[in-house]
Amino acid sequence: MGLQKSHSFKPKAQPLSKPEHDVMVTDDQRPLGTPDPIADQPILSDAGYASWMVEHPSALDSFDQMMKAAKGKKIVVFLDYDGTLSPIVNDPDRAFMSDEMRAAVREVAKNFWTAIVSGRSLDKVKEFVKLSNVYYAGSHGMDIMSPVSPRKQCNGKYQNIANVENKGNDVLFQPAKKFLPAIQEILSKLEEETGKIQGALVEDNRFCISVHYRQVQEKDYGMLEEKVKSVLQKYPDFCLSEGKMVLEIRPSIEWNKGHALEYLLETFGFRNSRDVLPLYIGDDRTDEDAFKVIQSRGQGFPIIVSSIPKETKASYSLQDPSEVLTFLLHLASWKKSSYSNRSSSQFWGIGN
Ligand SMILES: [Mg+2]
Repeated sequence: MGLQKSHSFKPKAQPLSKPEHDVMVTDDQRPLGTPDPIADQPILSDAGYASWMVEHPSALDSFDQMMKAAKGKKIVVFLDYDGTLSPIVNDPDRAFMSDEMRAAVREVAKNFWTAIVSGRSLDKVKEFVKLSNVYYAGSHGMDIMSPVSPRKQCNGKYQNIANVENKGNDVLFQPAKKFLPAIQEILSKLEEETGKIQGALVEDNRFCISVHYRQVQEKDYGMLEEKVKSVLQKYPDFCLSEGKMVLEIRPSIEWNKGHALEYLLETFGFRNSRDVLPLYIGDDRTDEDAFKVIQSRGQGFPIIVSSIPKETKASYSLQDPSEVLTFLLHLASWKKSSYSNRSSSQFWGIGN
């Protein structure tokens, strides 16, 4: 039996020790590496691309309209890393972002609260991004560095579900800390079990584990999947999901990139704020959780990075990281020009 897919967009927190049909709620039974209607592949023919673009218009073409809606409100920027700020590459350790992209993110972060939300470990994503004026959420939001000041507002709601500790001027929020010993066990078992499969790469993302199979021969996909599943059978508190040529293992807790977005908005001081517009750009199945949160808030800009039509909760699209770069440059210069317009308006005593 092939790896099964979750019907919903978020990975299901279903323990693997349950009967296999219950491991993931499925909408298909798809062998590993075959087309994924949500994560990898088009759901429509070429002829359907135009109608998909009507539903999910280009964020570049829609930029003026989006900024018009943002007038008088506060945009908060959330960015996924792999496939959004950096290209998807064969070796995940070499998924570098360009200096140009780094400069664009730096400019955006000078003008808006900005957070990078990634499946990578917090340390690794910081190492890739190398910016001190953004906040970071690693391990799909299970390892968050956020500002200290508004923390008191969040204490009651979040301290029961996470380890929260001060780190200098920041707060470290780790809702899956108790799982660390088990994660280390699983990590070494996975390394041992998959070590003989050529091209398989086990990545330690601290609170979750990625098993990359981009460089594995297709004939070995089934064996890899079986080995991963056999390790996880002994860990009912963990769940398995699939991204772009990667299997993701994480603790079965009700916490994902969507929760991370809400948590960060609160720590940035926008608790219950009706005039905040979260803008989230991401390319992966896990980003759908954040898109869903924005949709349920009723305002904000969920933007998917995809060059093919696919099922998504995003409202807008960008084709690839180069379009993300252009969008971020537009955003930074829009803010600057709105500042200068405001200054001249104030100088002339017109408008606000
Ligand atoms: Mg991504």
